[in-house]
Amino acid sequence: MLENETYENCMDCPRHLVAPDPDPTDWFEDDDELVLCTFTKERRNITVACRPHHKRAECKTPSWCPLLLVNGINTTLQKD
Ligand code: SF4
Repeated sequence: MLENETYENCMDCPRHLVAPDPDPTDWFEDDDELVLCTFTKERRNITVACRPHHKRAECKTPSWCPLLLVNGINTTLQKD
């Protein structure tokens, strides 16, 4: 990854991580997933309890993306 790259969707960024996030009370959602940003040591959720086929729709790059800060596109750290 080049530090001067940015992504419109976290699913295209090599810094995203997908992990299981099942709902223990609902068998229908036992394959839910979460997506984390691993750019910083404090990993941050991009989406949680996400249906696997909804990941791309729920992972548009957030305003707090560290790459936007590094590249000067967003100069304030925002919390969504
Ligand atoms: S928030 Fe930014 S750095 Fe983190 S996974 Fe998404 S695009 Fe990559």
